[in-house]
Amino acid sequence: MIRVGINGYGTIGKRVADAVAAQPDMELVGVTKASPDYGAEAALRRGYDLYAAIDDRAAAFEDAGIVIVGTLGDLLDAVDVIVDCAPAGIGERNRPTYEAHDTPAVYQGGEDAAIADGSFNARASGEIRDADSLRVVSCNTTGLSRLLAPLDEAYGIEKARVTLVRRGGDPSETDRGPINDVVPDPATVPSHHGPDVNAILPEINVDTAALKAPVTGMHTHSVNVTLEGKPTTSAVRELLRGETRLFLIPERAGIDGAGTLKDYASDLGRPRGDLWENCVWEESISVEGRDLYLFQNVHQEADVVPENVDAVRTLATDVPREESVARTNEVLDIGLDSLLSDGGTARDQVAADD
Ligand code: NAD
Repeated sequence: MIRVGINGYGTIGKRVADAVAAQPDMELVGVTKASPDYGAEAALRRGYDLYAAIDDRAAAFEDAGIVIVGTLGDLLDAVDVIVDCAPAGIGERNRPTYEAHDTPAVYQGGEDAAIADGSFNARASGEIRDADSLRVVSCNTTGLSRLLAPLDEAYGIEKARVTLVRRGGDPSETDRGPINDVVPDPATVPSHHGPDVNAILPEINVDTAALKAPVTGMHTHSVNVTLEGKPTTSAVRELLRGETRLFLIPERAGIDGAGTLKDYASDLGRPRGDLWENCVWEESISVEGRDLYLFQNVHQEADVVPENVDAVRTLATDVPREESVARTNEVLDIGLDSLLSDGGTARDQVAADD
């Protein structure tokens, strides 16, 4: 049993906590909160042991009637791996505490790559041995790594160019809005996302440009990849259909954006309407010569969650990566397969011999 703690029970932390608690080979020892707010109450109502993230705030929990069983140090002493889900940049401040307790740590994409022994994506990272810490890359980098790795393996990538339309804030981040604009963010090109992909896939030539839009649902990626090979559109669709953490949205499903995607996930019974998979519009996948085009959406609150589970297993065990991914997928029921899929017989915009 791998004993796991979550430091920071916010947007990512609460989802990773649920995913860890569901794994038969993991025990969720507890979660921390920085303050006794609605998130702390929700953790208790889910039956999770709660710890104060900051020692001198422990009394505030007692005052608010929120029962805690200790502070971060107590949690670190009780776990094999701590998953840092604190706000971006706080992980760096937490690192000396984890090291003082000799507790291996998983960090999130808001931290610099240098914080950990390696950056991690379950599909695209090479073999990792003897690491004491890993950084699960950001939601956008996770989505891009999952997509580019199989394309590079199958056809070779000469150059990838991606425009990212990023959600302005998460639904709970009321302080980020309202806004009424589409803003280049950063206005400098390329954005930092391409170099972050290179932390996972160092050989891939990728440039990214990013904008911020006044939505909370998902990020949208407009992808153009110049391949070294010249596959047909159908072949690329089949390649991507075979990837368990990519969902090809069937044309006839009537899913036209993040709103209907989240609605679909909720209707299927996904917790919080979460989409752990990249969602690629099947009809957008088209190859012209060696140029591949497609649109994909990534759910910023969810796609890194299974990656965190696999990162924990990588730090704590010798379970091979593929087996870890298969276990995580099975327990969480990852691998959407729509009844409306036509199995790739949809119109092929480019002739097979093109
Ligand atoms: P969040 O603000 O929703 O949650 C952070 C939680 O940590 C809050 O509950 C906060 O109370 C708590 N906290 C505050 N100070 C703390 C401290 N000193 N120690 C421990 N916990 C503390 O943040 P989030 O969106 O979940 O982001 C967490 C990390 O995940 C960041 O690195 C972020 O860049 C990354 N990430 C976020 C998203 C996303 O879209 N939200 C996607 C991928 C990765």
